[in-house]
Formats: sequence, structure tokens, C-alpha cells
Amino acid sequence: MGFKILLRGIVQGVGFRPFIYNLALKNGLKGYVENSSDGVEIFVDGETSAEGFLDEILSNLPPLAYVIDYSVEEDVTLDEHIERFYIKKSRQTAGITFVSPDTAICSDCKEELFDEKHHKYMYPFINCTNCGPRYSIMENIPYDRSNTSMKYFKMCSVCQSEYDEPENRRFHAQPNACNVCGPKVYFKDLSGKKLIEIARKYLNDGKIIGVKGIGGYHIMCDAMRHEAVSRLRDFKSRKFKPFALMIKDKNTLMKYNINLSLEEEKLFESKIAPIIIKEIDDNRFFHINPLGKNIGIMKAYTPLHLLLFDGFKGDFLIATSGNIKDEPIAIDEKTAEERLSVCELFLHNDREIVNRVDDSLVRFVNEKPYMLRRSRGYAPLPVVIRNRLQKEIVGLGAHLKSSICFVKNDYAFISQYIGDLENYEAQNFYEEVYERMKRLFRLNPAVAITDLHPDFFSTKFAKRLKIPTFEVQHHIAHMYANMAENSLTDNVIGIVFDGTGLGDDGKIWGGEVFVVKEGKTKREIHLEYTPLIGGESAIKNPYRMFLSYIVHFGIDNAEIDEKYLKEYELIKKVIKNNVNIVETSSMGRFFEAIGAYLLGIEQNEFEAHSAIALEGLCVDGYDESYEAHILDGEIKVKKIVENIISDFKNGEDIGKITTKFHNTVADLIFRSAIKMKEKYNINRVSLSGGVFQNIFLLRKTVNLFKKNGFEVFLHKNVPSNDGCISLGQVYFYILNNR
Ligand code: ZN
Ligand code: ZN
Ligand code: FE
Repeated sequence: MGFKILLRGIVQGVGFRPFIYNLALKNGLKGYVENSSDGVEIFVDGETSAEGFLDEILSNLPPLAYVIDYSVEEDVTLDEHIERFYIKKSRQTAGITFVSPDTAICSDCKEELFDEKHHKYMYPFINCTNCGPRYSIMENIPYDRSNTSMKYFKMCSVCQSEYDEPENRRFHAQPNACNVCGPKVYFKDLSGKKLIEIARKYLNDGKIIGVKGIGGYHIMCDAMRHEAVSRLRDFKSRKFKPFALMIKDKNTLMKYNINLSLEEEKLFESKIAPIIIKEIDDNRFFHINPLGKNIGIMKAYTPLHLLLFDGFKGDFLIATSGNIKDEPIAIDEKTAEERLSVCELFLHNDREIVNRVDDSLVRFVNEKPYMLRRSRGYAPLPVVIRNRLQKEIVGLGAHLKSSICFVKNDYAFISQYIGDLENYEAQNFYEEVYERMKRLFRLNPAVAITDLHPDFFSTKFAKRLKIPTFEVQHHIAHMYANMAENSLTDNVIGIVFDGTGLGDDGKIWGGEVFVVKEGKTKREIHLEYTPLIGGESAIKNPYRMFLSYIVHFGIDNAEIDEKYLKEYELIKKVIKNNVNIVETSSMGRFFEAIGAYLLGIEQNEFEAHSAIALEGLCVDGYDESYEAHILDGEIKVKKIVENIISDFKNGEDIGKITTKFHNTVADLIFRSAIKMKEKYNINRVSLSGGVFQNIFLLRKTVNLFKKNGFEVFLHKNVPSNDGCISLGQVYFYILNNR
């Protein structure tokens, strides 16, 4: 008698079986380890529990292993008699091939990078079996050099011998290369030997440069040179949106008294090395985020970045995406030189980027990672879901913050972040991702699941695939994405507070409470409808949205600023004449409208700008909220707005008003759930939608639920914003088409 552990993920070809073998010997265990179709199976004989051994495995994984999922079977009896621990010969199985995400430089390579005696000394693309680019250079499987963009570089004899030597850390390291044989950095019009030194001098002089990294170009400059930063803001037409920062290593954080929690530090230092959002109360960073205290920080995760830091006089580099508004980040020299005109120098290189990957963005909520953008370091790892379908399917995602999700067996292969499908370049990128993933994972979807909206690029793209299509409402997809991640199938209350999406009544939804019971999804409560004047342009005009609430609900205590009077009269007319009015129940737009009024924001610079500015003003330890009602399935708006206006007119502190408003929304979420609990006897709540990127609101809400005996489920691997839609689409299809 013994136990069996099945580990699935990238556990083959990464030294996994010898690792298990050694661990078993160390613990004096008997049994075996063998490769299975999508992972590794371990059997341990004897009267012990799996827990301790499993813990030891998971906390000591070989550097490049990724465990996506595991299962444990206790009390297993085998026919064979086992006397020792051994590695079983592999059965030939036609399994699923997983593709490793790109990986931050390992500590061994980091050491060699600065070791004068090493033949890869100062080589900006040093890597080994444990680190370096993967997905970004892969054209096809299997993962051989000939299937990557490294195929153009023939290894020199030194690199080749590393590659051939089983004991070497670079044994079969496909991107292995050095100064002699590998990719090189170059400037377009300049030449010279000390290219990186020159680039660094530019940074030290407060200049802006373009740097080709793993998944695309970054625009970089010394973050503390205000003149450079404001030039960058002008170029990007972003006065307010925060920039991400890169630092050499965590010592910089100590220098600035920025404390990472244990879990944050683990992820920061890990091979994933995403941008981690931290709340930093330090005026020195005001110009990096004028809207609040949240600053995104990542470590220098490639050798090239480390070389830029070596001799850099500052502490922080801005490392922002090399793109202009809504376009995908540049991945080639031509696009970078054409588009990123703010850069005074480009550090190009000739390692072609096959798959574009942006930096991932993560925040921690209750000591757990909460995804904001899922890309480098995560994609294209799958998320494991419950699936009984025999066929393969694909979810084509949302229009903004798009992603594509293929499903095969229990695996949901979610693409990297694609972005807003507003222009030709982004749409091109979308098509590329579709084709590449289909090829990499040998996928052949039988059904394409799309949004209800007939005009979306993804909906039209689905038609071209010439396979059956199936539509899922945007916010229902949000809820199901959350359910997919949390293995929920039924008996769930879903709170989806979001921007906008077409509802099945032809109106624009976005403040929705659903219930899934006995396989049926019902919309039970929503924010009261309000005219969405000017349709989607309301995203840009939060103040217009505010005026629309005022007029529609006959709220008359607001003093309208003179500059809005004309628009106010116009909106009155439009609403009175009732011509072509689209109505919305969007909670995102509601937040933005309140933000616009309280802060006088005329134009949103980016989606949710005024809502984010509002969140930035919230204060802790203040529990009051506004009177608010839920009547006949509607969250009533009028009283809330009236009271906010009178507080504002009475000169109440803005921080207090915004906090009160957030408390009110948290309270409304909680009370909606109570109503559903009474009606359906369900106490499990899923939270999804862009509004739940508001961490102040999220924390308040989660606390309320936890204090009152609800089980509350958050997103984990995919963002609560529209990046999750493709996963929700496929999961809805799976649960509703058995
Ligand atoms: Zn390495
Ligand atoms: Zn070489
Ligand atoms: Fe959404």
C-alpha cells in the first residue's frame, strides 16, 4: 500500500525524474517515477501520507519545471513488489506538449555575466537550460533550436560543447550563444564596440532610448529625471497614466524603504519576474503616478537589462511599452524606428521576436497574486479547468484587452495579452496569435465562441474560421471565467461590476448580479439603466455620463460648472426627445461619472482614468456609507448621487466622500448577495469585472463577505478585466453543452 502523485505541466525534459529519484533516496522511500502523457507519475510504497513528500517536491522544483496541476491518490495497492526507488522506462504516449514561458535570468548566468574569465562575460544574451527566452522565440514544436529564431545562429565550438555535454548547465539549452556566435546588439546608424556603454551614457544623460528586450521594445529613461519623464508623457499623450519601473535588484527597494511581503518578494525574484504593483507613500514618485500611490516595479530580468544597470547612476529606469496608443508593442527595428520617435537612440538586436509578450502585471490581495495583465512569464501556460467535452473549442475574447483561449482536454491555453482590437496592427497581432497557438499546441477547434456584439473584430474573425459559432454575453463570460478558475460549476452568485458589454436585451450592461442554479444562469439584479449619451464615447467623457445621471433621474441639487452648461442643455434635449438612446447599467461608467464630478475630470485619458483617480483618494479606517436601495432587481442611483452632491457642496473632505462612495458600493454588493442567498440558499460569490481592479473596493467587499459567512472567489490566473473573457466564453460553452 502507498500513494500516487500525478503532476502535470512542464515536468518532462527539465530533469524532473532524477530530481524525484534523489528526493526519494534522501527520504529512504521505495517506489518509482515515470513520465505519463501530460506529466509525471510518482508511486511511493509504504504507510506514509503523500503530504510531506508533495510539499518537498513543490518547494524544490527543478528551475524550469512548471507544475500546472497535481492530484494525489492515497491507499494505492500495486501488484508488483517494490524493493527500492527507480525510474521507470517511459511508455510512448501521445501527450500534450506544453510550451515554457520566457524566464528571467538565473543566478548562475548572472554570475558568469560579470565574470571576466567566463567566455560569455558581458554577453547580453547569456542564458542556460534554467533561464532565458522560450515562448518569445518559438515558431513551432518540438522545442529544438531549428524551431526557434535561434536557428540563424550556428553555435561556436565552445557553445556547441556546452550544448552536447550532459553534465553542463547548457546541455540542450536551445538559445545557447555567446559573443562569438550569437545574436548581437546594434545601433542602426551608429557603430562602435561599446554599444551598451553608449546606451548607458544616454540614460545617465537623461535621454530616452528604445531597447529591444525579450518580448518587445521598451522605452527607457532615468525615472528620476523629470524632464525626460515629461517628454515621454508628451510623446505618449499620457499625463496621468503611471509608468512601470525597472530596478537592478531588490537592494534598491531597501534603499527607498519599499517593503515587499514574503509572497511578493518570492514572485519578484522568481523566473516570472512580473511588474508588481506596490503602494508607495513617497513624494519622489509623484511624477510616476500622479493619480495615486500605486507604482509598478520589476527587476532587471534579462542580461541586457543588467548590463544597462551596470554603471547606471540612477536607481530606477522607466521601462514602458514601446508603442503608441492602442498599438501592440514594437518587436522589430523598422516599427520601433518609425513609431517611437521620442527615442534618441535604439539598442536593437538580431534575435528575432517570434511571439510578442508584454510585461505581466500583478498585484497582491490578501497575500495572494491577483493578475492585472497576463503575458510574459505566464503565457502560454494553460489553466486547468473541468471539461468533459470530447472536441476542442476556442474562445475569441473581448474587444478590449483581448485574449484567445483554446481548450483541449482539461487545459485552457490562454494567449498572452493582445490588447484593444481598435486598429489594423492590433488585429493583425490577434490573427498571428490565433495561428501560432493553433500550430504550437496542434489545436483544431470545432467551435468558436464569441461575444454577442455583431460588430466586434473577433466576431467577424469567427465567421472567417468557417466553423460553428456560439455566443456568450460579455458579463456572463466574466462570471464563468471566475468559476473556471475556481472549479465552480453550479450554485454561485456572480457579481460582475465592469465597463460595458452588450446585453441580451439590446442594452449595455455592466453592473450585474447573476445566479447560476441548476445549470441556469439568471440575471437577478442590475444597476438602474441610464442613457449612455454618445455610445462608447462615454468612455472618454465621464462628465457627460455624470450629466446623464443628473438629467435622467431628475437630480436637481447639483451646481453645474459653467463650462458644462451647454452640454447639460443638450443632454436634456436628447433625453427628452428620446431619440436613439442606448441605455446602460454599467458600474464602471458610474464610478467614472462620480470621479468626473468630484475631481472635475473632463476627459478620461485612458479607460477608467477618473475611477482610478477616485480610488487613489480613499482613506482607511472610515466606515460610513451613503443611503442606497435595491428595489425590484435594480440598484437605485438617485439617492446616492444626491447625497454625494450635497456632501460635496457642504465642503466635505473629498477623501471622505470617495471612501463613503466605495463603502456604499461594497455594501450594495453585499446586500445583493444577501438577497440571492435568501432566494436561492447559495453562499458562494464570484467577483469579476474591471471594477474589481479597484483594490480598495475589492478588499472592503471581501471583508464584508468573510465576516458574514460567505465563501468569496476571486480571479487568480487571469485578470478580472476583459483579459478573462476568452476563458469565460469557453467555460460557459463547456457547462452548457454536454
Ligand atoms: Zn541561466
Ligand atoms: Zn558561442
Ligand atoms: Fe468586461
